Amino acid sequence: MDFSHIPPGGTELVHHIDEVEIPLVTDPARCAHDDTLCPECAALWQTEHLLSERLPWEQGPPDPTDAERDE
Ligand SMILES: [Zn+2]
Repeated sequence: MDFSHIPPGGTELVHHIDEVEIPLVTDPARCAHDDTLCPECAALWQTEHLLSERLPWEQGPPDPTDAERDE
């Protein structure tokens, strides 16, 4: 199967970055900050990428200091 396609009238490939699966590492000391994702670099990634799923370390009770975040 080919997941890439050129839309009618378009010339650029469409990329689906939200379908990329990245190994999660809960310990930043064990993370290469490149092809794995830890809490430390997740904060950086979230500014550049749209993460399609909540990260495991974000599933706890809501942080009161984070209540103003827009969905
Ligand atoms: Zn990392």
